[in-house]
Amino acid sequence: MIPILDLRQEYLELKAEIDQAIGRVLASGGFVGGLEVEALEAELAAYLRVPHIVTCGSGTDALVLALRAMGIGPGDEVLTTPFTFIATLEAILLVGATPVLVDIDPHTFNLQPALLAQALTPYTRAVLPVHLYGQVAPMGEILAFAQQHGLWVLEDAAQAIGARYCPTGCQHPLEACRCTHPLAGTLGHAGAFSLYPTKNLGAYGDGGFVATRDPRLAEEARLLAVHGSKERYHHVRPAGYTSRLDALQAAILRAKLPYLESWNTRRRQIAQAYNQGLKNHVQIPQEMPYALHIYHQYTVRHPERDRLAAHLKAQGIGSSVHYPVPAHLQPAYRHLAPQGSLPAAEAAAREVLSLPMHPFLREDQVEKVIAAVQRFA
Ligand SMILES: *Cc1c(COP(=O)(O)O)cnc(C)c1O
Repeated sequence: MIPILDLRQEYLELKAEIDQAIGRVLASGGFVGGLEVEALEAELAAYLRVPHIVTCGSGTDALVLALRAMGIGPGDEVLTTPFTFIATLEAILLVGATPVLVDIDPHTFNLQPALLAQALTPYTRAVLPVHLYGQVAPMGEILAFAQQHGLWVLEDAAQAIGARYCPTGCQHPLEACRCTHPLAGTLGHAGAFSLYPTKNLGAYGDGGFVATRDPRLAEEARLLAVHGSKERYHHVRPAGYTSRLDALQAAILRAKLPYLESWNTRRRQIAQAYNQGLKNHVQIPQEMPYALHIYHQYTVRHPERDRLAAHLKAQGIGSSVHYPVPAHLQPAYRHLAPQGSLPAAEAAAREVLSLPMHPFLREDQVEKVIAAVQRFA
């Protein structure tokens, strides 16, 4: 069996370092916050080249904390995509605001900036683009639109840690880009990241963080994450949260962070091999000139997606659909937009299929996946 993801393999490769990190925390007796978490925040800030990192309990919490820090709440509308993991929309609802859905570009699966204007109302307060599958959304156009209309921009960078936005174009080599262009999640007013185990930088449990250049947003998110308090038992904001990264996760993530660039490079190499082998058989992912894609998922399109998935399964190859139902066709979210109103998202949901993708996939496994897809189509 070639699974879509293999986290056990990653642990075995890093066992000595991870075990050492865990042992260090257990021996320290400090389990929530503390030096490990502070050190991780500093290391993430250096990696992302952003002054403020606020760790928290999950990527969903990071979205909620950032929206709350921006002051977004009841009566406010947030422009976002229907083709995402549901947490993007949940966060908007959890702060009491209303998601307003804007269709996607069928080639990149990201928000279509040309459609933002028609979704704008006097209540619009923010744009929440998602860098789906690890490719940066067209941030130049999104930021220009937001600036023109005085809107906040919160990036859902849960799938895009290490991705770059290169508006002037880079001849991206296969290895992770050394260019000085900004990283996904540092382009808008804030970026929300997930450290869920399956993400490109994953903890061994839940975790997330907010990245921002704005010291007030950082301070507000930090307050809210810990019961609305800066000083213990003194509460300056109502309705805060218990949303913290624990020290064990921080220590594990510190052991893993130095490998992230090489892992993303390996993902790009695998994507290139897939592209070569599959380009005449399925619709391969389209890399935009402004984006260094880090392939959180390698997602193809095929009109007979379900049959392709069954064929792969029969050959011992895992695959997964991200995502089978767009937000507005979910039972819980049908009130947001009628069926047929977001055609690009609806078509994508019928046709996308993600193939095995992780840094520990071997050449022979990549070849097997390619051969199996070729036999189908
Ligand atoms: C994973 C993910 C989230 C949520 O992250 P959690 O850590 O699972 O809460 C949000 N948005 C997108 C696009 C994701 O992929």
